[in-house]
Amino acid sequence: MDGEKALQRYGRQLIIEGFGEEGQERLRAAQVVIAGAGGLGSVISIYLAVAGVGKIRIIDHDIVELSNLNRQVLYGDSDIGGKKAQVAERKLRALNPEIVVEAVTETITDGNAFQLLGGFDAIVDAMDNLPTRYILNSVAVGQGVPLFHGAVRGFEGRATTIIPGITPCLKCIYPRAPQPEVTPVIGVAPAVIGSIEATEVIKYIVGIGELLTNRLLVYDGLNMEFMEIRLERHHDCGVCGHLAGSQR
Ligand SMILES: [Zn+2]
Repeated sequence: MDGEKALQRYGRQLIIEGFGEEGQERLRAAQVVIAGAGGLGSVISIYLAVAGVGKIRIIDHDIVELSNLNRQVLYGDSDIGGKKAQVAERKLRALNPEIVVEAVTETITDGNAFQLLGGFDAIVDAMDNLPTRYILNSVAVGQGVPLFHGAVRGFEGRATTIIPGITPCLKCIYPRAPQPEVTPVIGVAPAVIGSIEATEVIKYIVGIGELLTNRLLVYDGLNMEFMEIRLERHHDCGVCGHLAGSQR
């Protein structure tokens, strides 16, 4: 860490029990890839950036549109028409100039996934569709890297942390993709779920707390309820079934 300045910038988190300068150094050394710069990606990237994650790659092929602005808090009216990943990079650098941010304006496919997502310490799912999430899942399982899953619809959302070989993978949890739809969303839903995903990433890197593993957290904002669904590995899963290991 760069001495005095870092002690000031991160001072309030350094004094969390179990965190300390060592935890901050782990964050600084960490490389995290965020797939998607929409509602979830906005919240996740902002909080990982200000926490001091040393390198963040953010991937999105889209352009900022007016219809994004009710929930995608990285963007404002003046960003309409810009490439999301590039605008995100600029905003994140302004929030924390001490980290490295990489913008990638590409669509994640089976063909480029290992190149775009490979070599990172954590893969964060901020997508809006299950077919692309399956691609993230395959890379995470293939590389033995954790996948932080979150999804939102309306006032609701879900999140879980996937550790390949230990927890169920996304394909164990959702064997089939539903029909695509224009998903209704209010901005506060990705704020809640994105914050949960970012919290999990920070805990994983720093090495504190208990992860959201083997549990699907289901958030219902309309009734303000959090529920948990117990998850189990499918040992005949086509993606992770070959991996040894047991539930934790
Ligand atoms: Zn699986």
